[in-house]
Amino acid sequence: MVEPPDPQDVQEYARNAKPAFLTCRSYGHAPLPSSVIIVTLEGSRKQYYEQTLRCRNRCGVTWMLLIDMGTGEVLERRINYSGAKGYLAKGIGRIQGTARNVVRLEAIDRNFTEEL
Ligand SMILES: [Zn+2]
Repeated sequence: MVEPPDPQDVQEYARNAKPAFLTCRSYGHAPLPSSVIIVTLEGSRKQYYEQTLRCRNRCGVTWMLLIDMGTGEVLERRINYSGAKGYLAKGIGRIQGTARNVVRLEAIDRNFTEEL
């Protein structure tokens, strides 16, 4: 079982996080389809849809879905944080469960003093 992160570390992360990061960490991302291209995988002649989604909250996180053109089945799903520098709380551990409460309170506190 993974130990929950230290609430003080989470508080520190939340204090310095961009508003969009607080929104997504509190309530989840809001994926929005952004583009679709047709790709052929190496060593195969079969074509697939490669769909990119971006987060509507503008946190910078994107996803790539590899989709079977015939069935619509999602064969592969990758998340990309490279456009969301600072989103990942490195060295703290996963911000989940009760740790999200700390982030949620920071988002609410800030909402009284600035636009999210
Ligand atoms: Zn997001």
